[in-house]
Amino acid sequence: MTNASAVVNVVASRYGAAVTADRVYELLERLANLMRAEERALGAEAGLQPVHLHVLAYLGRANRYSDTPIAVAEYLGSTKGTVSQSIAVLQEKGLIATADDGDDARKVHLRLSAKGRRFVDRLLPPAVLVDGLQSFGRGGPLADQLAELLLGMQRARGSRTFGVCRGCRHFRRADGGGVCGLTGEALRSEETQRVCREHEPGQA
Ligand code: SF4
Repeated sequence: MTNASAVVNVVASRYGAAVTADRVYELLERLANLMRAEERALGAEAGLQPVHLHVLAYLGRANRYSDTPIAVAEYLGSTKGTVSQSIAVLQEKGLIATADDGDDARKVHLRLSAKGRRFVDRLLPPAVLVDGLQSFGRGGPLADQLAELLLGMQRARGSRTFGVCRGCRHFRRADGGGVCGLTGEALRSEETQRVCREHEPGQA
């Protein structure tokens, strides 16, 4: 089975045979183009490209295992070189800062600065999306359906899922948060809501 047909099967089994890959592709492409146009406009005032906004949005949600340059590259499906350039731009503008690992001298963590956090909180998600969602009431089921479609495509492609602890097979609930079964480390409640590079779908 090709990747494309695997994705079609996921979509069709979930949404019914009437949903064709052509139609889903058309809708997603239109949405993505609209979003990029909005991101270009939002970033222009700060001299940023859409990819810079994507890095900021990701770092604003990434957990402590996932805030490294390599994780950013994997999340964006980009090269380390391209991501390095974006990181340099964002550092120069004071939107992100680096932090040492503590255990591994070779590893660097990336964090939003206070300025970066304000930028993200003010502009992301783009207002055009927030406004669009008003017309059908915040769309809880829509988010679940899109998440399932994304997961199907990630599985077909064999890529990391970058999910949160809830729904990760390594997660163990505990008072005040939980424990990561992969690392054996305690997780505060707020950390369990953050995006993780090591996430593996499944029930704990
Ligand atoms: S439980 Fe899963 S998602 Fe949570 S930190 Fe561990 S590997 Fe990441």
